[in-house]
Amino acid sequence: MSLPSAPVDPRTGLEAARLGVYVHFPFCLSKCPYCDFASTAAKVVPEERYTRALVSELARRVAEHALSGRAVHSIFIGGGTPSLWQPANVGRVLDALAKAFTVEAGAEVTLEANPGAADAERFAGYRAAGVTRLSLGVQSFASSTLAALGRAHDGDTAKRAFASARAAGFDNVSMDFIYGVQGQTVAEAEADARAAVGLGPEHLSAYALTLDQASLAEEVPLAKQLARGEVRLPDDATVVAMQRVVRDVYAAAGLRRYEVSNYARPGLHSRHNALYWTGGEYLALGVGATGFLAPLRYANHRSAERYLADVEAGRIPEASRESLSPVERFEERVAMGLRLANGVALEAVCADFGQDFTPRRAVIEHLLTGGLATLEEGRLALTDAGFDVHSAIAARLM
Ligand code: SF4
Repeated sequence: MSLPSAPVDPRTGLEAARLGVYVHFPFCLSKCPYCDFASTAAKVVPEERYTRALVSELARRVAEHALSGRAVHSIFIGGGTPSLWQPANVGRVLDALAKAFTVEAGAEVTLEANPGAADAERFAGYRAAGVTRLSLGVQSFASSTLAALGRAHDGDTAKRAFASARAAGFDNVSMDFIYGVQGQTVAEAEADARAAVGLGPEHLSAYALTLDQASLAEEVPLAKQLARGEVRLPDDATVVAMQRVVRDVYAAAGLRRYEVSNYARPGLHSRHNALYWTGGEYLALGVGATGFLAPLRYANHRSAERYLADVEAGRIPEASRESLSPVERFEERVAMGLRLANGVALEAVCADFGQDFTPRRAVIEHLLTGGLATLEEGRLALTDAGFDVHSAIAARLM
């Protein structure tokens, strides 16, 4: 079954941005040394308490933002390791969302799963609870790369997790991979890509390992080791070569690069993530979750204890809240829109947010002549060469 068609925004080529819900489950079996997600290693997961807190936060936020009954087209349960969560409790949260909103028929409901915390029975439980899509955090099939990342599973476990997802009836399965890991070669990155497409997934994500402290949300052990010279990552040219070989292997298998790091079969892109890239709104619930209800952006506490204490005391569990200015929203739209293969209708977005398009013409000309971008029907889209320097180009256009 493929996802039902939905109205397409002519400016993005993706579905018109609407409202999605992100639910964060912050607990993991252990903390990976490169991880800066809001996650915490828990011997005993406080499932009941956390599930109640999420439902309680939902009620407060729906009331505060007058969201009751609004149409929701995607739900994403991320982590952390949501596949540690009992299906019955996932079902309680999905039921609460269904009561609060009008969850559209055919809505995309994704749950992230770790291969080490996955089995067909559990996956069948998620499916019965209303999950329609699984995203498996495989990262690599190679023992050396998994060990370098501090991951507990092995390649065979990851393959079994994929088979379990299929056995449970999931016909929309994504897998995440990381390249640019210490000790990893281009040939190993290619082998991972070939093994991934060999399983026949609908969607793949491939991210370069990032250990630049400035771009991390918190200090992580691997970044400190890198700073001390105790580990070395592949050089930039090697990482670019890895990215290119991954892209080519995926493309040959029919998975098109539709975003800098994301690849999908036609029509099977991540509808929820498209909200982030196209200026859509998303309610976020749970530890460390970041939401955007135009023009408001908020971030919840990253500490599970602090989050639980606030919710249980009847408080909104926020660490920060800001109202984005038109300039900030414009910059985000440009940076995010340029991540998409379909690009961004820059002149129209300038008009939407009161920005002058004229001084940007020279930059666009430069990008076109340099082979870094194309401009068709008003849509500025980066080429593969442009994607390699996406951040620099976005900065110049802002
Ligand atoms: S499993 Fe994922 S969320 Fe948990 S510590 Fe590892 S990388 Fe972070």
